[in-house]
Amino acid sequence: MTRRIPNGIASVPAHHLSPTHHLSEELLMDYAAGSCGEAEALIIATHLALCPECRAVVEAYDAVGGALLDEIAPTAVDEHGLEAVLARLDDATPAVEMAPRVAPRGHEDIVLPEPLRSYLATDLKDVVWKPVMRGLDEAAVPICTSPAKSRLMRIGAGVAVPRHTHHGSEMTLVLSGGFSDNRGHFVRGDIAVSDPEVEHRPVADADEDCICFVVTDAPLKLTGPIGRLLNPFVRF
Ligand SMILES: [Zn+2]
Repeated sequence: MTRRIPNGIASVPAHHLSPTHHLSEELLMDYAAGSCGEAEALIIATHLALCPECRAVVEAYDAVGGALLDEIAPTAVDEHGLEAVLARLDDATPAVEMAPRVAPRGHEDIVLPEPLRSYLATDLKDVVWKPVMRGLDEAAVPICTSPAKSRLMRIGAGVAVPRHTHHGSEMTLVLSGGFSDNRGHFVRGDIAVSDPEVEHRPVADADEDCICFVVTDAPLKLTGPIGRLLNPFVRF
């Protein structure tokens, strides 16, 4: 159980289309309950900053959590004293929400939404990229408490990421540009959740680089003929 990372400030100007690829209710419920790891909570919170639809679902869960709390607290005080109340709060309370961050003005031009932006302590133009292969760069997103790996990935315009499946789960949030795989086309705000069942070969849009925030809890497993040979060298 980790402390809940607050939702990102809404950073979608009203005239923008909402994302079309969303998080499952199960993941949103885990997030609302504060039971995601830090890296997962960060990518979910950043999707929420770009997605009014998922934000509404989390707000509904929060309201239910608050109502449950109102119901159980008074009787618990009478019958069992403070300790019992605290014990029950542990079970029933959504984790404490931190104060929302103030969105800078002119957010239409900002590529990195909160809370990711604060984690990186920089904006995209100042990120230091490390080459992974031709047309593919990455930059670590520093997460203190989570075993999952989180990074920004930059896929060059028109570049295909080698075909792969996943040993665990992979969450990919598009921040800029777009990519396509066998599930459809993903653009800014869209999130793709892949598990060992999903085998894909994401290809960046031809007209601009695609920048994504990616959280993985296990190494990728390359499945193409050359990829299989490279698997021992895949960095997690
Ligand atoms: Zn959504």
